[in-house]
Amino acid sequence: MKTFLSLSGLAALGLLLALAACARGLKVPTAALTSTPTPEPLTRTFPGLTVHALHTGWVSVKEAHRTLGVADALRIPAILLDQRWTEWMPVYVFALVHAEGLWLVDTGLSEATLDFTDSACDPGNRFVYQNLLRFRFEPAQRVDRQLAALGVDLSNVRGVVFTHRHADHTDAFPQLPASATPYVGAGDWPAHDGALPCRWPSGRAPTLVENVGPAFGALPHSTALSSDGRLRVVPLNGHSPGHLGVMADLGDGQFALFAGDSTFSLEQVTSRTIAGISEVPPDARRSLDLIAAQLAHAPTFLLPSHDPASLERFGRGAVTAITP
Ligand SMILES: [Zn+2]
Repeated sequence: MKTFLSLSGLAALGLLLALAACARGLKVPTAALTSTPTPEPLTRTFPGLTVHALHTGWVSVKEAHRTLGVADALRIPAILLDQRWTEWMPVYVFALVHAEGLWLVDTGLSEATLDFTDSACDPGNRFVYQNLLRFRFEPAQRVDRQLAALGVDLSNVRGVVFTHRHADHTDAFPQLPASATPYVGAGDWPAHDGALPCRWPSGRAPTLVENVGPAFGALPHSTALSSDGRLRVVPLNGHSPGHLGVMADLGDGQFALFAGDSTFSLEQVTSRTIAGISEVPPDARRSLDLIAAQLAHAPTFLLPSHDPASLERFGRGAVTAITP
């Protein structure tokens, strides 16, 4: 089974074990978090399409996880050695309400995300999730509860596009009805580094998305979700081998690009800085090029999973502009 650790091999495993005590001693800014109330959903309505941005929890990672500052080959040791934690970053799930039903981009956290003490998942992943990642989550943030609070009938959830299969993007999937079709990048199935196959509900085989299909905006391939083609899955590989995004045609020439973890911010796009955790660095760089091309191609709201600044721009109707 693949784990985060499979990347680094035995040498890095030894390094990791040597650093275990150190990692356990690191602290994230919990005091700042406790004073932060859970944000209300942000809703924007376009002709024939409503977008809810749901804040499903917080994640903190090592700075070297978020930003690659070393040679590609050293990215995993750099994460292990880094003693700097990022600020608490939001984990957004996007609910796209269309006349044909509702599609989700990821599911966000659940109670399971706070509990990696069980041995259901492989030991390598358990160590990483317990020591190299931090999560915060309140029960009311779970996606099914937020949708219910918005008056959404869960039976209207047509599908869930998993940008990738890290726990903060997948753990609430069991809370969604079995009628919701899961979409997973073909390169991410049956597993990728950090994916947790043991948490995937049995009997819910995904629709696998390949890098095929017609261009959509500046993206070279796409797979339609809605029959009118306004909602499309667009491969943005690299963070994981089969990492996906979703793009929506909002009308009036505008688009929204739900980018998952292909970038953590607009600045990473403009500077072409990939994340240290990127599983396939060359593909991750290519995806940043594609995102930049889309932003230059048409007025587009860039919406990564963990970027409050992008959501703030979306809330006030400011498309994500870049200077060529
Ligand atoms: Zn993430």
